[in-house]
Amino acid sequence: MNEAGQVPASFIWGYAMSIEWLNEELYSAWGQRFRVDKELVRKKSDFQDIVIFESESHGRVLVLDGAIQITERDEFVYQEMLTHVPLLTHGAAKRVLIIGAGDGGVLRRVLEHPGVEKAVMVEIDGDVIELSKTYLPKIAGDAWNDPRADVIVGDGIEYVAKAVDESFDVIIVDSTDPIGVGEVLFTDAFYQHCARILGPQGLIVNQCGVPFMQADELRETSLRRARFFPTVSAYVAAVPTYVGGFMTLGVASKGGNPAKQDVAAVRERAREAGLLGKTQYWTPEIHVGSFNLPPYIAANLPASQD
Ligand code: SAM
Repeated sequence: MNEAGQVPASFIWGYAMSIEWLNEELYSAWGQRFRVDKELVRKKSDFQDIVIFESESHGRVLVLDGAIQITERDEFVYQEMLTHVPLLTHGAAKRVLIIGAGDGGVLRRVLEHPGVEKAVMVEIDGDVIELSKTYLPKIAGDAWNDPRADVIVGDGIEYVAKAVDESFDVIIVDSTDPIGVGEVLFTDAFYQHCARILGPQGLIVNQCGVPFMQADELRETSLRRARFFPTVSAYVAAVPTYVGGFMTLGVASKGGNPAKQDVAAVRERAREAGLLGKTQYWTPEIHVGSFNLPPYIAANLPASQD
């Protein structure tokens, strides 16, 4: 303890982690902090620094290179919106490709759709998968053992470059931000391959950050996706631990415009999939309404496609 009675912060990999607090210093002048009950594991993998800790307020938390990835308490918001929106928009997805998502949460939600016959998940860091299996078992549940799941440890861009034309109906990119290993998943080459391997009604969804602080992530990736897809839009979700207001999920579609859907049709698809009443954030109304963007977010999209 220092003279002020505070536990001195120890700096690990460039971000402050005291015995009591984990400070997420995502922005130079703004961040959030979690009171740490117990550090469960800390490992420097070949790709990133991995920490999983028990927090006082949000259950267990996964941190990669100092950035909050997922918490047990609010993961349902993000995973439900990143998964159910594209799958219920497509309406008949059988083959789904997941890039990143090493905690297994997206895989679990994809496999909740009985029409899905194959879920291929490509995660670059096997340590994230193994540590999530051990320390975050609630996030993926039993998804790892589902016979429809094919979990591959590899680089997402290498996978899509080698994948066969029109082999997927939906691609979900749940990656870290466009720095380090995640950067390749925000490039023209990546989107071009994704357009090639998606079927005629196919669509891709990408986590595009919090536009209040990261507007360029949505703007630049939407312009890139627009080069390879006829329809580009975005929808929002209020994820408490992705600080800064709405989290934006960028969408690009080879079929119709996802921003123009009918609540009744979405509800019917969800009923057929057995999802109605099984979600804590997603609803048919939230699904359709989430595409109605506040002007400060819509300003980062290419001119609207009618
Ligand atoms: N929900 C979080 C967010 O929005 O920031 C992302 C969670 S998930 C754990 C992010 C995953 O993307 C990490 O496990 C990371 O290893 C993986 N990843 C980053 N770059 C990748 C790449 N090029 N190919 C495959 N996976 C990648």
